[in-house]
Amino acid sequence: MLDQARKVLQQVYGYPEFRAGQVSIITNLLEGRDTLGIMPTGGGKSICYQVPALLMDGVTLVISPLISLMKDQVDALGALGVPATYINSTLEAREVEQRMQGAMQGKYKLLYIAPERLESERFRARMAALKLPLVAIDEAHCVSQWGHDFRPSYVGIAPFIRSLPERPIVAAFTATATEEVTADIARLLELDGAGIFVNGFSRDNLELTILRGENKRDYIGKYVAGHTHQPGIIYAATRKDVEELYELLRKKGFAAGKYHAGLTDDERSYMQEAFLYDDIRVMIATNAFGMGIDKSNVRYVIHYNMPKNMEAYYQEAGRAGRDGEPSECILLFSAQDIMTQKFLIEQNQLTPERKANEYKKLQTMIDYCYSPRCLRNFILHYFGEVEVKDTCGNCSSCKDDRDSVDITVEAQKIFSCIRRMNERFGISMVASVLKGSRAKKIMDYRFDRLPTHGIMSQLPEKEIAELINVLISEGFLQLSEGQYPVVRLLQPAAEVLQGRLPVYQKVRRQPVRTAAAVDNTLFEQLRLLRREMAAREKVPPYIIFADSTLREMSEQCPTT
Ligand code: ADP
Ligand code: MG
Ligand code: ZN
Repeated sequence: MLDQARKVLQQVYGYPEFRAGQVSIITNLLEGRDTLGIMPTGGGKSICYQVPALLMDGVTLVISPLISLMKDQVDALGALGVPATYINSTLEAREVEQRMQGAMQGKYKLLYIAPERLESERFRARMAALKLPLVAIDEAHCVSQWGHDFRPSYVGIAPFIRSLPERPIVAAFTATATEEVTADIARLLELDGAGIFVNGFSRDNLELTILRGENKRDYIGKYVAGHTHQPGIIYAATRKDVEELYELLRKKGFAAGKYHAGLTDDERSYMQEAFLYDDIRVMIATNAFGMGIDKSNVRYVIHYNMPKNMEAYYQEAGRAGRDGEPSECILLFSAQDIMTQKFLIEQNQLTPERKANEYKKLQTMIDYCYSPRCLRNFILHYFGEVEVKDTCGNCSSCKDDRDSVDITVEAQKIFSCIRRMNERFGISMVASVLKGSRAKKIMDYRFDRLPTHGIMSQLPEKEIAELINVLISEGFLQLSEGQYPVVRLLQPAAEVLQGRLPVYQKVRRQPVRTAAAVDNTLFEQLRLLRREMAAREKVPPYIIFADSTLREMSEQCPTT
Protein backbone atom coordinates (compact mmCIF):
# COMPACT_ATOMS: atom_id res chain seq x y z
CA MET A 1 0.00 0.00 0.00
CA LEU A 2 2.85 2.30 0.81
CA ASP A 3 4.31 1.56 -2.61
CA GLN A 4 1.16 2.91 -4.19
CA ALA A 5 1.34 5.98 -2.02
CA ARG A 6 4.95 6.54 -3.03
CA LYS A 7 3.99 6.25 -6.68
CA VAL A 8 1.38 8.97 -6.18
CA LEU A 9 3.95 11.15 -4.45
CA GLN A 10 6.38 10.78 -7.33
CA GLN A 11 3.94 10.97 -10.21
CA VAL A 12 1.61 13.66 -8.92
CA TYR A 13 3.87 15.80 -6.74
CA GLY A 14 7.23 14.99 -8.28
CA TYR A 15 8.88 14.34 -4.90
CA PRO A 16 11.19 11.32 -4.70
CA GLU A 17 10.47 10.28 -1.10
CA PHE A 18 8.22 10.85 1.85
CA ARG A 19 9.60 12.73 4.79
CA ALA A 20 10.24 10.72 7.94
CA GLY A 21 6.98 11.58 9.70
CA GLN A 22 4.75 11.21 6.68
CA VAL A 23 5.22 7.48 6.18
CA SER A 24 3.76 6.37 9.49
CA ILE A 25 0.79 8.73 9.25
CA ILE A 26 -0.09 7.74 5.70
CA THR A 27 0.32 4.04 6.48
CA ASN A 28 -1.95 4.36 9.50
CA LEU A 29 -4.63 6.12 7.47
CA LEU A 30 -4.44 3.67 4.60
CA GLU A 31 -4.88 0.87 7.09
CA GLY A 32 -8.14 2.53 8.08
CA ARG A 33 -7.31 3.99 11.49
CA ASP A 34 -8.00 7.44 12.89
CA THR A 35 -4.84 9.45 13.10
CA LEU A 36 -3.59 12.49 14.89
CA GLY A 37 -0.57 13.86 13.10
CA ILE A 38 1.52 16.36 14.98
CA MET A 39 4.06 18.07 12.79
CA PRO A 40 5.51 21.51 12.91
CA THR A 41 4.58 24.20 10.45
CA GLY A 42 6.17 23.34 7.13
CA GLY A 43 6.54 19.72 8.11
CA GLY A 44 4.33 18.56 5.26
CA LYS A 45 0.94 17.80 6.78
CA SER A 46 -1.08 18.41 3.61
CA ILE A 47 0.48 15.50 1.77
CA CYS A 48 -0.43 13.23 4.69
CA TYR A 49 -4.12 13.50 3.82
CA GLN A 50 -3.90 14.41 0.15
CA VAL A 51 -2.07 11.25 -0.87
CA PRO A 52 -4.51 8.91 0.96
CA ALA A 53 -7.38 10.94 -0.51
CA LEU A 54 -6.11 10.14 -3.99
CA LEU A 55 -5.94 6.45 -3.14
CA MET A 56 -9.42 6.22 -1.65
CA ASP A 57 -12.78 5.96 -3.37
CA GLY A 58 -14.95 9.06 -3.07
CA VAL A 59 -14.26 12.59 -1.93
CA THR A 60 -12.19 13.59 1.08
CA LEU A 61 -13.59 16.43 3.13
CA VAL A 62 -10.91 18.83 4.38
CA ILE A 63 -11.90 21.13 7.22
CA SER A 64 -9.64 24.13 7.59
CA PRO A 65 -10.06 27.45 9.41
CA LEU A 66 -7.95 29.30 6.91
CA ILE A 67 -10.33 30.64 4.31
CA SER A 68 -7.64 32.84 2.84
CA LEU A 69 -5.52 29.80 2.01
CA MET A 70 -8.17 27.53 0.54
CA LYS A 71 -8.03 29.04 -2.90
CA ASP A 72 -4.24 28.77 -3.01
CA GLN A 73 -4.33 25.16 -1.89
CA VAL A 74 -7.01 24.22 -4.37
CA ASP A 75 -5.21 26.07 -7.17
CA ALA A 76 -1.98 24.28 -6.28
CA LEU A 77 -3.75 20.93 -6.42
CA GLY A 78 -5.33 21.92 -9.72
CA ALA A 79 -1.89 22.68 -11.12
CA LEU A 80 -0.85 19.14 -10.20
CA GLY A 81 -3.90 17.78 -11.98
CA VAL A 82 -5.77 16.86 -8.81
CA PRO A 83 -9.48 17.66 -9.00
CA ALA A 84 -10.25 19.69 -5.87
CA THR A 85 -12.49 22.56 -4.87
CA TYR A 86 -13.51 24.65 -1.90
CA ILE A 87 -16.73 26.06 -0.57
CA ASN A 88 -16.63 29.06 1.72
CA SER A 89 -18.17 32.43 2.44
CA THR A 90 -16.13 34.21 -0.23
CA LEU A 91 -18.22 32.54 -2.94
CA GLU A 92 -21.58 33.62 -4.29
CA ALA A 93 -24.54 31.35 -3.63
CA ARG A 94 -24.69 30.24 -7.25
CA GLU A 95 -21.05 29.27 -7.27
CA VAL A 96 -21.52 27.31 -4.04
CA GLU A 97 -24.43 25.45 -5.58
CA GLN A 98 -22.44 24.62 -8.69
CA ARG A 99 -19.57 23.23 -6.66
CA MET A 100 -21.93 21.24 -4.48
CA GLN A 101 -23.45 19.71 -7.60
CA GLY A 102 -19.97 18.89 -8.82
CA ALA A 103 -19.15 17.19 -5.55
CA MET A 104 -22.34 15.14 -5.72
CA GLN A 105 -21.40 14.04 -9.23
CA GLY A 106 -18.04 12.83 -7.99
CA LYS A 107 -16.04 15.50 -9.81
CA TYR A 108 -13.60 16.12 -6.97
CA LYS A 109 -11.18 14.11 -4.87
CA LEU A 110 -10.90 16.81 -2.23
CA LEU A 111 -13.42 19.30 -0.92
CA TYR A 112 -12.18 22.08 1.38
CA ILE A 113 -14.56 23.80 3.76
CA ALA A 114 -14.41 26.05 6.79
CA PRO A 115 -15.89 24.49 9.95
CA GLU A 116 -18.78 26.99 9.98
CA ARG A 117 -20.15 25.30 6.87
CA LEU A 118 -21.12 22.32 9.02
CA GLU A 119 -23.73 24.51 10.70
CA SER A 120 -25.77 24.38 7.50
CA GLU A 121 -28.28 21.57 7.64
CA ARG A 122 -28.51 21.49 3.89
CA PHE A 123 -24.78 20.97 3.63
CA ARG A 124 -24.79 18.20 6.21
CA ALA A 125 -27.62 16.41 4.40
CA ARG A 126 -25.65 16.47 1.17
CA MET A 127 -22.53 15.19 2.84
CA ALA A 128 -24.55 12.28 4.20
CA ALA A 129 -25.45 11.38 0.62
CA LEU A 130 -21.82 11.36 -0.54
CA LYS A 131 -19.19 8.67 -0.47
CA LEU A 132 -16.91 10.17 2.17
CA PRO A 133 -14.01 7.87 3.02
CA LEU A 134 -11.87 10.40 4.87
CA VAL A 135 -12.36 13.61 6.83
CA ALA A 136 -9.17 15.60 7.33
CA ILE A 137 -9.13 18.29 9.98
CA ASP A 138 -6.36 20.81 9.58
CA GLU A 139 -5.23 23.01 12.49
CA ALA A 140 -7.05 20.59 14.77
CA HIS A 141 -5.92 22.43 17.91
CA CYS A 142 -8.68 24.96 17.11
CA VAL A 143 -11.06 22.51 18.82
CA SER A 144 -9.30 22.94 22.15
CA GLN A 145 -9.80 25.80 24.55
CA TRP A 146 -6.26 25.16 25.70
CA GLY A 147 -5.01 26.02 22.26
CA HIS A 148 -4.26 29.53 21.11
CA ASP A 149 -6.82 29.66 18.31
CA PHE A 150 -10.01 28.20 19.72
CA ARG A 151 -12.81 28.12 17.12
CA PRO A 152 -16.24 27.27 18.56
CA SER A 153 -17.41 25.78 15.26
CA TYR A 154 -14.73 23.08 15.55
CA VAL A 155 -16.79 21.62 18.36
CA GLY A 156 -19.45 20.80 15.76
CA ILE A 157 -17.14 18.48 13.83
CA ALA A 158 -17.56 15.40 16.03
CA PRO A 159 -21.40 15.50 16.03
CA PHE A 160 -21.29 15.96 12.26
CA ILE A 161 -19.11 12.90 11.80
CA ARG A 162 -21.31 10.93 14.18
CA SER A 163 -24.34 11.85 12.10
CA LEU A 164 -22.96 10.41 8.87
CA PRO A 165 -24.48 7.10 7.75
CA GLU A 166 -21.05 5.54 7.43
CA ARG A 167 -18.23 6.71 9.67
CA PRO A 168 -15.28 8.00 7.66
CA ILE A 169 -11.68 7.69 8.80
CA VAL A 170 -10.74 10.83 10.67
CA ALA A 171 -7.34 12.44 10.26
CA ALA A 172 -6.52 15.42 12.45
CA PHE A 173 -3.43 17.58 12.06
CA THR A 174 -1.80 20.25 14.12
CA ALA A 175 1.56 21.77 14.92
CA THR A 176 0.70 22.06 18.60
CA ALA A 177 2.06 19.20 20.61
CA THR A 178 1.30 19.88 24.25
CA GLU A 179 -0.30 17.14 26.26
CA GLU A 180 -3.46 19.06 27.14
CA VAL A 181 -4.11 20.03 23.56
CA THR A 182 -3.33 16.58 22.20
CA ALA A 183 -5.66 14.95 24.71
CA ASP A 184 -8.37 17.52 23.97
CA ILE A 185 -8.16 16.94 20.23
CA ALA A 186 -8.48 13.18 20.60
CA ARG A 187 -11.41 13.57 23.00
CA LEU A 188 -13.33 16.39 21.32
CA LEU A 189 -12.95 15.04 17.81
CA GLU A 190 -13.82 11.58 19.13
CA LEU A 191 -10.83 10.04 17.42
CA ASP A 192 -11.32 6.33 17.60
CA GLY A 193 -8.28 4.73 19.24
CA ALA A 194 -6.23 7.12 17.23
CA GLY A 195 -2.59 6.64 16.45
CA ILE A 196 -0.81 9.77 17.56
CA PHE A 197 2.31 10.62 15.60
CA VAL A 198 4.70 13.32 16.66
CA ASN A 199 7.27 13.94 14.03
CA GLY A 200 9.27 16.19 11.83
CA PHE A 201 10.11 18.70 14.52
CA SER A 202 13.74 18.46 13.64
CA ARG A 203 14.11 21.10 11.00
CA ASP A 204 17.77 20.61 10.32
CA ASN A 205 18.01 23.52 7.91
CA LEU A 206 17.13 25.97 10.67
CA GLU A 207 20.07 27.40 12.54
CA LEU A 208 18.85 28.12 16.06
CA THR A 209 20.43 31.00 17.91
CA ILE A 210 19.79 32.62 21.25
CA LEU A 211 21.49 35.95 21.91
CA ARG A 212 21.53 37.50 25.34
CA GLY A 213 22.77 40.90 26.27
CA GLU A 214 22.48 42.40 22.78
CA ASN A 215 21.31 45.90 22.10
CA LYS A 216 18.25 44.60 20.30
CA ARG A 217 17.49 47.60 18.12
CA ASP A 218 21.08 47.95 16.93
CA TYR A 219 21.25 44.26 16.26
CA ILE A 220 18.11 44.30 14.13
CA GLY A 221 19.23 47.37 12.21
CA LYS A 222 22.51 45.67 11.34
CA TYR A 223 21.00 42.29 10.63
CA VAL A 224 18.38 43.63 8.24
CA ALA A 225 21.00 45.78 6.52
CA GLY A 226 22.98 42.61 5.87
CA HIS A 227 19.96 40.73 4.52
CA THR A 228 18.13 43.31 2.41
CA HIS A 229 17.30 40.90 -0.39
CA GLN A 230 16.04 38.09 1.74
CA PRO A 231 12.52 37.72 3.10
CA GLY A 232 12.38 37.67 6.87
CA ILE A 233 10.01 38.07 9.78
CA ILE A 234 10.65 39.90 13.03
CA TYR A 235 8.28 39.02 15.85
CA ALA A 236 7.78 41.51 18.68
CA ALA A 237 5.63 41.09 21.77
CA THR A 238 3.60 44.30 21.55
CA ARG A 239 2.06 46.54 18.92
CA LYS A 240 4.13 49.39 20.25
CA ASP A 241 7.35 47.48 19.62
CA VAL A 242 6.16 46.58 16.13
CA GLU A 243 5.43 50.22 15.32
CA GLU A 244 8.78 51.38 16.67
CA LEU A 245 10.80 48.80 14.80
CA TYR A 246 8.79 49.49 11.68
CA GLU A 247 9.60 53.21 11.89
CA LEU A 248 13.24 52.46 12.60
CA LEU A 249 13.63 50.20 9.56
CA ARG A 250 11.58 52.45 7.27
CA LYS A 251 13.77 55.41 8.23
CA LYS A 252 16.79 53.40 7.23
CA GLY A 253 15.13 52.84 3.86
CA PHE A 254 14.38 49.13 4.12
CA ALA A 255 11.36 47.50 2.48
CA ALA A 256 9.67 46.83 5.79
CA GLY A 257 6.05 46.00 6.53
CA LYS A 258 4.08 45.69 9.74
CA TYR A 259 1.31 43.46 10.94
CA HIS A 260 -0.70 43.45 14.14
CA ALA A 261 -4.27 43.27 15.35
CA GLY A 262 -4.50 47.07 15.56
CA LEU A 263 -4.45 47.47 11.78
CA THR A 264 -7.57 47.40 9.64
CA ASP A 265 -8.43 44.26 7.67
CA ASP A 266 -7.43 46.02 4.48
CA GLU A 267 -4.09 47.11 5.85
CA ARG A 268 -3.37 43.61 7.05
CA SER A 269 -4.23 41.87 3.83
CA TYR A 270 -2.23 44.48 1.93
CA MET A 271 0.81 43.79 4.12
CA GLN A 272 0.43 40.04 3.83
CA GLU A 273 0.13 40.15 0.06
CA ALA A 274 3.06 42.52 -0.31
CA PHE A 275 5.17 40.18 1.80
CA LEU A 276 4.13 37.12 -0.21
CA TYR A 277 5.12 38.84 -3.43
CA ASP A 278 8.42 40.16 -2.03
CA ASP A 279 7.46 43.84 -2.25
CA ILE A 280 8.03 43.84 1.48
CA ARG A 281 11.22 42.07 2.48
CA VAL A 282 11.02 42.19 6.23
CA MET A 283 7.75 41.91 8.10
CA ILE A 284 7.63 43.20 11.65
CA ALA A 285 4.72 41.59 13.40
CA THR A 286 3.06 40.46 16.58
CA ASN A 287 1.99 36.85 16.86
CA ALA A 288 -1.19 37.89 15.00
CA PHE A 289 0.89 37.34 11.87
CA GLY A 290 0.99 33.66 11.71
CA MET A 291 -1.28 30.82 11.11
CA GLY A 292 -1.51 30.25 7.44
CA ILE A 293 1.42 32.18 6.11
CA ASP A 294 2.47 30.04 3.24
CA LYS A 295 5.71 31.61 2.15
CA SER A 296 8.38 29.01 1.69
CA ASN A 297 11.48 31.17 1.21
CA VAL A 298 11.54 33.08 4.50
CA ARG A 299 15.27 33.14 5.24
CA TYR A 300 15.15 34.35 8.81
CA VAL A 301 12.83 34.76 11.76
CA ILE A 302 14.01 37.02 14.54
CA HIS A 303 12.28 37.15 17.89
CA TYR A 304 12.66 40.62 19.32
CA ASN A 305 11.31 39.27 22.61
CA MET A 306 11.11 35.88 24.20
CA PRO A 307 7.66 34.41 23.36
CA LYS A 308 5.38 33.06 26.05
CA ASN A 309 6.10 29.37 25.50
CA MET A 310 7.94 26.82 23.39
CA GLU A 311 4.92 26.00 21.25
CA ALA A 312 4.50 29.61 20.21
CA TYR A 313 8.24 29.97 19.71
CA TYR A 314 8.76 26.96 17.52
CA GLN A 315 5.67 27.60 15.48
CA GLU A 316 6.83 31.13 14.72
CA ALA A 317 10.47 30.24 14.21
CA GLY A 318 9.34 27.37 11.99
CA ARG A 319 8.03 29.82 9.43
CA ALA A 320 11.63 30.19 8.29
CA GLY A 321 13.03 27.85 5.69
CA ARG A 322 9.98 25.88 4.73
CA ASP A 323 11.67 25.22 1.40
CA GLY A 324 14.41 23.32 3.20
CA GLU A 325 17.12 25.87 2.44
CA PRO A 326 19.42 27.04 5.26
CA SER A 327 17.66 29.70 7.33
CA GLU A 328 18.21 31.44 10.62
CA CYS A 329 16.05 31.62 13.74
CA ILE A 330 17.36 34.17 16.20
CA LEU A 331 15.89 34.83 19.60
CA LEU A 332 16.98 38.07 21.25
CA PHE A 333 16.58 37.49 24.93
CA SER A 334 16.72 39.86 27.85
CA ALA A 335 15.64 39.35 31.42
CA GLN A 336 13.04 42.06 30.88
CA ASP A 337 11.19 39.66 28.56
CA ILE A 338 10.42 37.48 31.56
CA MET A 339 8.75 40.42 33.27
CA THR A 340 6.76 41.20 30.14
CA GLN A 341 5.46 37.65 29.83
CA LYS A 342 4.58 37.44 33.52
CA PHE A 343 2.73 40.70 33.18
CA LEU A 344 0.79 39.35 30.20
CA ILE A 345 -0.16 36.20 32.10
CA GLU A 346 -1.36 38.25 35.05
CA GLN A 347 -3.37 40.51 32.77
CA ASN A 348 -5.42 37.67 31.36
CA GLN A 349 -8.22 36.54 33.56
CA LEU A 350 -7.34 32.91 33.86
CA THR A 351 -8.52 30.15 36.12
CA PRO A 352 -5.90 29.25 38.74
CA GLU A 353 -5.27 25.94 36.98
CA ARG A 354 -4.79 27.60 33.64
CA LYS A 355 -2.58 30.26 35.12
CA ALA A 356 -0.33 27.72 36.80
CA ASN A 357 -0.05 25.98 33.47
CA GLU A 358 0.95 29.18 31.70
CA TYR A 359 3.64 29.81 34.31
CA LYS A 360 4.94 26.29 33.92
CA LYS A 361 5.26 26.74 30.20
CA LEU A 362 6.87 30.11 30.60
CA GLN A 363 9.44 28.52 32.90
CA THR A 364 10.33 25.99 30.20
CA MET A 365 10.73 28.83 27.75
CA ILE A 366 13.06 30.59 30.19
CA ASP A 367 14.97 27.35 30.72
CA TYR A 368 15.43 27.17 26.98
CA CYS A 369 16.81 30.69 26.78
CA TYR A 370 19.37 29.93 29.47
CA SER A 371 20.13 26.38 28.42
CA PRO A 372 23.76 25.55 27.74
CA ARG A 373 22.53 22.36 26.09
CA CYS A 374 22.03 21.81 22.34
CA LEU A 375 18.94 23.85 21.50
CA ARG A 376 17.60 21.40 18.95
CA ASN A 377 17.98 18.57 21.44
CA PHE A 378 16.06 20.66 23.97
CA ILE A 379 13.21 21.35 21.53
CA LEU A 380 12.89 17.80 20.24
CA HIS A 381 12.81 16.40 23.74
CA TYR A 382 10.18 18.90 24.66
CA PHE A 383 7.97 17.98 21.73
CA GLY A 384 8.29 14.31 22.51
CA GLU A 385 10.36 13.04 19.64
CA VAL A 386 12.08 9.80 20.41
CA GLU A 387 15.33 9.61 18.53
CA VAL A 388 17.21 12.74 19.37
CA LYS A 389 20.91 13.40 18.96
CA ASP A 390 22.82 15.01 21.83
CA THR A 391 24.25 17.71 19.64
CA CYS A 392 23.22 19.07 16.28
CA GLY A 393 26.15 21.28 15.34
CA ASN A 394 23.76 23.91 13.99
CA CYS A 395 22.67 25.91 17.01
CA SER A 396 24.25 28.59 19.16
CA SER A 397 24.90 26.14 22.01
CA CYS A 398 26.65 23.65 19.74
CA LYS A 399 28.63 26.38 17.98
CA ASP A 400 29.57 28.27 21.07
CA ASP A 401 32.93 27.41 22.55
CA ARG A 402 31.83 28.89 25.84
CA ASP A 403 29.93 27.45 28.74
CA SER A 404 27.23 29.05 30.80
CA VAL A 405 28.22 29.38 34.42
CA ASP A 406 25.71 30.05 37.14
CA ILE A 407 26.57 33.39 38.72
CA THR A 408 23.31 33.79 40.64
CA VAL A 409 25.07 34.10 43.98
CA GLU A 410 27.50 36.73 42.72
CA ALA A 411 24.61 38.63 41.17
CA GLN A 412 22.69 38.54 44.44
CA LYS A 413 25.68 39.97 46.28
CA ILE A 414 26.05 42.76 43.77
CA PHE A 415 22.33 43.63 43.70
CA SER A 416 22.13 43.61 47.44
CA CYS A 417 25.10 45.97 47.69
CA ILE A 418 23.69 48.37 45.11
CA ARG A 419 20.41 48.47 46.99
CA ARG A 420 22.17 49.17 50.29
CA MET A 421 24.05 52.01 48.63
CA ASN A 422 20.64 53.41 47.60
CA GLU A 423 21.38 53.10 43.89
CA ARG A 424 23.35 56.32 43.90
CA PHE A 425 26.86 55.27 42.86
CA GLY A 426 28.80 54.19 39.81
CA ILE A 427 30.32 50.85 38.90
CA SER A 428 33.74 51.39 40.45
CA MET A 429 32.36 52.54 43.80
CA VAL A 430 30.09 49.50 44.04
CA ALA A 431 32.99 47.24 43.10
CA SER A 432 35.21 48.85 45.76
CA VAL A 433 32.63 48.26 48.48
CA LEU A 434 32.17 44.63 47.47
CA LYS A 435 35.94 44.21 47.41
CA GLY A 436 36.12 45.62 50.94
CA SER A 437 38.21 48.68 50.14
CA ARG A 438 39.01 51.06 53.00
CA ALA A 439 39.77 53.98 50.71
CA LYS A 440 38.87 57.42 52.04
CA LYS A 441 35.71 57.87 49.97
CA ILE A 442 34.39 54.52 51.20
CA MET A 443 35.04 55.47 54.81
CA ASP A 444 33.51 58.94 54.27
CA TYR A 445 30.24 57.34 53.31
CA ARG A 446 30.65 54.75 56.11
CA PHE A 447 30.22 52.02 53.53
CA ASP A 448 32.64 49.86 55.53
CA ARG A 449 29.70 49.30 57.88
CA LEU A 450 27.47 47.79 55.19
CA PRO A 451 26.93 44.05 55.50
CA THR A 452 27.91 43.77 51.85
CA HIS A 453 31.29 45.43 52.44
CA GLY A 454 33.96 42.94 51.46
CA ILE A 455 31.64 40.04 50.62
CA MET A 456 33.41 39.59 47.32
CA SER A 457 36.91 40.15 48.65
CA GLN A 458 38.18 36.94 47.05
CA LEU A 459 37.79 38.49 43.56
CA PRO A 460 39.97 41.21 42.02
CA GLU A 461 38.11 44.51 41.90
CA LYS A 462 38.42 44.55 38.13
CA GLU A 463 36.56 41.24 37.88
CA ILE A 464 33.79 42.52 40.12
CA ALA A 465 33.41 45.53 37.84
CA GLU A 466 33.30 43.19 34.85
CA LEU A 467 30.54 41.17 36.47
CA ILE A 468 28.57 44.36 37.00
CA ASN A 469 28.97 45.11 33.31
CA VAL A 470 27.73 41.63 32.43
CA LEU A 471 24.66 42.24 34.61
CA ILE A 472 24.04 45.52 32.83
CA SER A 473 24.19 43.94 29.40
CA GLU A 474 21.97 41.06 30.52
CA GLY A 475 19.28 43.53 31.52
CA PHE A 476 19.43 43.25 35.31
CA LEU A 477 21.04 46.62 35.92
CA GLN A 478 20.88 49.97 34.25
CA LEU A 479 23.44 52.72 33.97
CA SER A 480 22.00 56.22 34.22
CA GLU A 481 22.82 58.91 31.68
CA GLY A 482 25.08 61.83 32.42
CA GLN A 483 28.63 62.56 33.42
CA TYR A 484 28.61 60.31 36.50
CA PRO A 485 26.49 57.33 35.57
CA VAL A 486 25.10 55.44 38.54
CA VAL A 487 24.03 51.80 38.58
CA ARG A 488 20.39 51.11 39.26
CA LEU A 489 18.48 47.89 39.74
CA LEU A 490 15.98 46.82 37.09
CA GLN A 491 12.95 44.71 37.87
CA PRO A 492 14.51 41.33 37.04
CA ALA A 493 17.14 41.98 39.70
CA ALA A 494 14.43 41.83 42.36
CA GLU A 495 13.47 38.40 41.12
CA VAL A 496 17.06 37.29 41.40
CA LEU A 497 17.31 38.62 44.95
CA GLN A 498 14.23 36.62 45.86
CA GLY A 499 15.78 33.49 44.41
CA ARG A 500 13.24 33.27 41.63
CA LEU A 501 15.56 33.81 38.71
CA PRO A 502 19.02 32.43 38.01
CA VAL A 503 21.79 34.35 36.30
CA TYR A 504 24.29 32.85 33.92
CA GLN A 505 27.47 34.12 32.39
CA LYS A 506 29.19 32.78 29.31
CA VAL A 507 32.77 31.79 29.96
CA ARG A 508 35.46 30.16 27.85
CA ARG A 509 35.08 26.43 27.82
CA GLN A 510 37.70 24.42 29.67
CA PRO A 511 40.02 22.62 27.25
CA VAL A 512 39.64 19.09 28.62
CA ARG A 513 36.13 17.99 29.29
CA THR A 514 35.04 14.43 29.67
CA ALA A 515 31.46 13.86 30.69
CA ALA A 516 32.56 12.65 34.10
CA ALA A 517 34.77 15.69 34.62
CA VAL A 518 31.87 17.98 33.86
CA ASP A 519 29.67 16.14 36.31
CA ASN A 520 32.30 16.35 38.99
CA THR A 521 32.93 20.04 38.60
CA LEU A 522 29.23 20.70 38.60
CA PHE A 523 28.72 18.64 41.71
CA GLU A 524 31.65 20.40 43.29
CA GLN A 525 30.26 23.81 42.39
CA LEU A 526 26.88 22.85 43.73
CA ARG A 527 28.37 21.69 46.99
CA LEU A 528 30.34 24.90 47.44
CA LEU A 529 27.37 27.01 46.52
CA ARG A 530 25.15 25.22 48.98
CA ARG A 531 27.65 25.54 51.77
CA GLU A 532 28.16 29.21 51.07
CA MET A 533 24.45 29.90 50.95
CA ALA A 534 23.77 28.02 54.12
CA ALA A 535 26.46 30.09 55.84
CA ARG A 536 24.60 33.28 55.13
CA GLU A 537 21.15 33.98 56.42
CA LYS A 538 19.60 36.67 54.33
CA VAL A 539 19.73 34.69 51.13
CA PRO A 540 17.07 32.15 50.27
CA PRO A 541 18.16 28.63 51.17
CA TYR A 542 17.70 27.31 47.67
CA ILE A 543 18.81 27.99 44.16
CA ILE A 544 16.62 27.59 41.17
CA PHE A 545 18.37 26.09 38.23
CA ALA A 546 17.13 27.14 34.84
CA ASP A 547 18.09 23.94 33.14
CA SER A 548 16.21 20.82 34.07
CA THR A 549 19.32 18.61 33.85
CA LEU A 550 21.04 20.86 36.35
CA ARG A 551 17.96 20.77 38.49
CA GLU A 552 17.94 16.99 38.46
CA MET A 553 21.63 16.91 39.26
CA SER A 554 21.15 19.28 42.13
CA GLU A 555 18.55 16.94 43.56
CA GLN A 556 20.96 14.04 43.33
CA CYS A 557 23.88 16.04 44.59
CA PRO A 558 25.14 15.03 48.02
CA THR A 559 24.64 17.87 50.47
CA THR A 560 27.77 17.51 52.52
P1 ADP B 1 2.35 22.12 6.88
O1 ADP B 1 0.89 22.09 6.49
O2 ADP B 1 2.73 20.97 7.74
O3 ADP B 1 2.76 23.43 7.47
P2 ADP B 1 2.76 21.80 4.07
O4 ADP B 1 1.87 20.64 3.89
O5 ADP B 1 2.25 23.11 3.59
O6 ADP B 1 3.22 21.92 5.58
O7 ADP B 1 4.15 21.44 3.38
C1 ADP B 1 5.24 22.33 3.43
C2 ADP B 1 6.09 22.19 2.18
O8 ADP B 1 6.78 20.94 2.17
C3 ADP B 1 5.28 22.24 0.91
O9 ADP B 1 5.96 23.07 -0.01
C4 ADP B 1 5.28 20.79 0.44
O10 ADP B 1 5.12 20.68 -0.95
C5 ADP B 1 6.63 20.30 0.91
N1 ADP B 1 6.68 18.84 1.09
C6 ADP B 1 5.82 18.08 1.78
N2 ADP B 1 6.17 16.77 1.74
C7 ADP B 1 7.27 16.69 1.00
C8 ADP B 1 8.13 15.61 0.57
N3 ADP B 1 7.90 14.35 0.92
N4 ADP B 1 9.21 15.92 -0.18
C9 ADP B 1 9.45 17.20 -0.54
N5 ADP B 1 8.69 18.26 -0.19
C10 ADP B 1 7.62 18.02 0.57
MG1 MG C 1 -0.77 23.23 6.57
ZN1 ZN D 1 22.75 21.98 18.71
